Amino acid sequence: MSAKQGSGTPKTPSQNWRPRTKAVHGGTARSPFGETGEAMFLTSGYVYDSAEDAEARFKGEEPGFIYSRFANPTVRMFEERMIALEGAPGGRTIDARATATGMAAVTAAMLCQLSAGDHVVAAKALFGSCRYIVEDLLPRFGITSTLIEGTDLAQWKAAVQPNTKVFFLETPSNPTLEIIDLQAVADIAHEAGARLVVDNVFATPVLQRPFEFGADITVYSATKHIDGQGRCLGGIVLADEEFIAEHLGNFLRQTGPALSPFNAWVMLKSLETLDLRVSAHAANGEAVARFLDAHPKVQKTLYPTLDSHPQAALARRQMAAGGNIVALEVKGGKEAAFRLANALQIILISNNLGDAKSLITHPATTTHQRLSEEARAELGISAGLLRLSVGLEDSQDLIEDLDRALAAV
Ligand SMILES: *Cc1c(COP(=O)(O)O)cnc(C)c1O
Repeated sequence: MSAKQGSGTPKTPSQNWRPRTKAVHGGTARSPFGETGEAMFLTSGYVYDSAEDAEARFKGEEPGFIYSRFANPTVRMFEERMIALEGAPGGRTIDARATATGMAAVTAAMLCQLSAGDHVVAAKALFGSCRYIVEDLLPRFGITSTLIEGTDLAQWKAAVQPNTKVFFLETPSNPTLEIIDLQAVADIAHEAGARLVVDNVFATPVLQRPFEFGADITVYSATKHIDGQGRCLGGIVLADEEFIAEHLGNFLRQTGPALSPFNAWVMLKSLETLDLRVSAHAANGEAVARFLDAHPKVQKTLYPTLDSHPQAALARRQMAAGGNIVALEVKGGKEAAFRLANALQIILISNNLGDAKSLITHPATTTHQRLSEEARAELGISAGLLRLSVGLEDSQDLIEDLDRALAAV
């Protein structure tokens, strides 16, 4: 299904366009009115010229939209712009399906290809809800899983079973910013006959494109940097056209976690500035990380491209920049961490991330509260750890805000 069907004069995104051009023009399909701004098609259904026309469209003999749970022109423009940004290395043909949230994207990407008796290997450093899917939800349906230390390639190899179908990881990971070697893990997955699913939320397609390193499926919470202004929930799954035709497309069509056309329109417009915003976010992230790394009240600063990061060389190899998420361990545990967060004036306390506004959260008592104390300790989520999503404010104001708050600790 293409947004072009029945809708004016399309401009097919050129493979040769550079990312900023794709972000502005990719996927645009104009209606017969020739609007410059992308049209928002707030419609649940579509009318047919005749009963014969309806029959042909349902049979798939004629192109065209049928029902917005299956596809919608505005949602399709968002999907096509994301496909353009993600790229298709090695002559692959990539397709995409948008979803109501990032978690709907993760859940669908897993469930659409797994059955009872299958096995999943996942890195244990995962976003809380992703870990719930792998650890709690899948086993209820007879899909077993093994959680491993994702940075240790030997553990990926050792966890493989004859029934392993999927590898799942996030890099950089939430909240401790571990970096996993995408190419090496993709190679191990393929040798085992499994597919690699990558949650690429922290990096965005601006900083890291997992298909270039052999990933089979890339998922996003569009709620984060893709919207980037804290307004709408959304998600998207990108994969080879055959995978979507065989597994994902029908799963979504029948189970229904569709993205609202309104939210798709917001995301589509946000993509126009994604490269500009993520580049500015990353420059701010790096400046704040360097400041924190040198501060005497900070025990440890975690940021992918800091020299002190254990996988800094790998981060520089697979990411264009370190991104905007910084984790810091303040000396003095939970009390000091709470005092720091409460003393901030610009940086807001919120568990969201990737917003224009800088946000700080205490993972041990919020996003990772559900985990046992031992599981948190294993992941390095200590009582003094704070996760900072650096926004688009002036980095000097953010540094002064942190400096002032650290003085209060
Ligand atoms: C936020 C997030 C999700 C879930 O996205 P929602 O849009 O909130 O459902 C999944 N993975 C990571 C890494 C996230 O940060």
